[in-house]
Amino acid sequence: MIDLKKIRAEFPIFSHHPKLVYLDNAATTHKPQSVITAISDFYQKENTNIHRGIYPLAAQTTQKYEQVRNKVAQFLNAPNSNNIVYTSGTTASTNLVAHSFLNTRLKKGDEVIISAMEHHANLIPWQMICKKNGANLSIIPMNKEGELDLVSFRKMISEKTKMVAIVHVSNSLGTVNPIEEIIEISHQKNIPVLVDAAQSVAHYPIDVQALDVDFLTFSGHKLFGPTGIGILYGKEQYLSAMHPYQFGGDMIKNVTFEETTFADVPQRFEAGTTNVAGVIGLGTAIDFVNQLDRRAIINYLNDLTLDATGKLLKINGLEIVGTAKNKSSIISFALRNIHPHDVATFLGTDHIAVRAGNHCTQPVMDYFNLPGTTRASFTIYNQPEEVDFLVEKIKEIQQFFS
Ligand code: PMP
Repeated sequence: MIDLKKIRAEFPIFSHHPKLVYLDNAATTHKPQSVITAISDFYQKENTNIHRGIYPLAAQTTQKYEQVRNKVAQFLNAPNSNNIVYTSGTTASTNLVAHSFLNTRLKKGDEVIISAMEHHANLIPWQMICKKNGANLSIIPMNKEGELDLVSFRKMISEKTKMVAIVHVSNSLGTVNPIEEIIEISHQKNIPVLVDAAQSVAHYPIDVQALDVDFLTFSGHKLFGPTGIGILYGKEQYLSAMHPYQFGGDMIKNVTFEETTFADVPQRFEAGTTNVAGVIGLGTAIDFVNQLDRRAIINYLNDLTLDATGKLLKINGLEIVGTAKNKSSIISFALRNIHPHDVATFLGTDHIAVRAGNHCTQPVMDYFNLPGTTRASFTIYNQPEEVDFLVEKIKEIQQFFS
């Protein structure tokens, strides 16, 4: 049994906002006290730059910074901490792969495959690199339930395909995609796969070696950690063949006016002063997640999502968008004749925080012919009563608009 009250009590936001019903966890999660304290302690007691100073305080910060890299590697079961690149977030991680990996390999007529449900962060970087190189962006279609059509994917993939980039859990539909199968199909043709784990990393244990994934991206802020810090995991064979695309301090071996040689992986991809406090906070967030009973949390969130789905479906005129068999704790819905922004505004007056709009997945909204949806996304500090409150308030909104 998980102690929900104890978990919730670790998040100070709820003592500052006792009425807050926070159902916007897909946008960002709140931070436990341990993470806030770690960041505050860092600035109060250490605050030095990394890889530069040799005095004790600076050396200590560098050591902690690199220890977090080990921690992230263990968290993902990466073979080595050198597989872990610090970035500013999922978006930056994807851009790094697009620019430093794909850009030099893509030729006219080549192809990148993504899916119909990608977040713009896993769509636009590939679109731009394809346009620049005269390559094509191909889209794995989905059905009305929001499930990918792998039969089409098998037919699409060819020797022209140079990269497959897929979201693990869709932020607007909640679909959990069969990434194991997608990786296997791609590897049969030796095509590298990037998995966008922004929405999955907080809830599902991820083993990059078992998955055999080539690149994996996520952001600290959706994992109970700070904003402005993210991770790119990459296989050694790919990272070591990549040319950096951002240049400056702390990423070099030797510089003259004529030539520069770069530091080893992963440091060559971390130009300039990185988010040191963010790294420290991320390390503490991973400690926080590691001490949770993750199996019990998955079961709890499955039950909570099923309960919410059942109750929402009983509301006349409410349609759930994204009804895949395998879903995470994200529910998008549309209310007949009521704009999602109105729904979110009204819910907001009752301290219910949901997201409304296209969720940075405009093609998904186009596919369902909707201006947007209202999205409730749950995590470990949400409680069953919050589902009932949401349902009650949605009914009131309907009454108001009728
Ligand atoms: N991918 C998915 C599936 C997401 O949900 C998000 C954040 N909404 C991103 C990518 C981008 O993450 P970030 O803004 O932290 O870079």
